[in-house]
Amino acid sequence: MLPIIDTHVHLGTSKFSGVTTTETELLESMERNGVAASLVMPQPTLANIQDIHAQIADLASRHPGKFYGIASLDPWMEEEPYVLQLEQCVKEWGFVAAKLHPMGHNISPLSDRCTKIYETAKRLNIPVIVHTGLGTPFSLPALLIEPARRFPEVTFVLAHAGFAIYTDEAIVAAKTCENIILEPSWCQTYTVQKMVSAIGHQRLIMGSDHVTNLPVEIMKYRSIGLSEEQLDDIFHHNAKRIFNLNYEGVTISEGL
Ligand SMILES: [Zn+2]
Repeated sequence: MLPIIDTHVHLGTSKFSGVTTTETELLESMERNGVAASLVMPQPTLANIQDIHAQIADLASRHPGKFYGIASLDPWMEEEPYVLQLEQCVKEWGFVAAKLHPMGHNISPLSDRCTKIYETAKRLNIPVIVHTGLGTPFSLPALLIEPARRFPEVTFVLAHAGFAIYTDEAIVAAKTCENIILEPSWCQTYTVQKMVSAIGHQRLIMGSDHVTNLPVEIMKYRSIGLSEEQLDDIFHHNAKRIFNLNYEGVTISEGL
């Protein structure tokens, strides 16, 4: 079995749930669950986002190959500071994706304000992760079809793949656009099976979203009859490919 990569991890305090996740909790949870690398982003939060990004960058620099940052900047920001801060995250700190949280940022993915996210992601060659499910109508998975068509070079990751309730809609979006990837945290096991049949396991990645949910998400994939090769793709190869992870230097033993 290859090292597991968790593509959806938060650091800091959520303004919605009030949950705080610390660096120690992340490290302990990874150790306990055999996860070698985590992609870490801020929560939708009241804290200063660039401060949290700097903390994530610091975490990644102290644990090379174990943590990778994801930038979650507020799209209501003007274009210039938004682009400058995203560039700082990617070019200076090595972040591997941009996050749009239609509920946390209180914005539709179709808003003109979001175009700068997609344009900058295209220029920097990084995927855009979009929260889907909770917080409709802005979080409806189908709203990503139009941006995915407008930016065919950009990979769009639908975080939570519709969050159980809108899973079928997430599948429709992914079937419609090949550049849409599903990350089905919080979805039922049988809907994950449905995703594998509908779009193929190579367009699925594992994300935990909360440290206590990590063993649940890993077990979900292990309980739906996938082969070892399929599991290696979902847990490892797909994430590496989609996020262009520079994974050299991390061996299984170091990772675990
Ligand atoms: Zn999340």
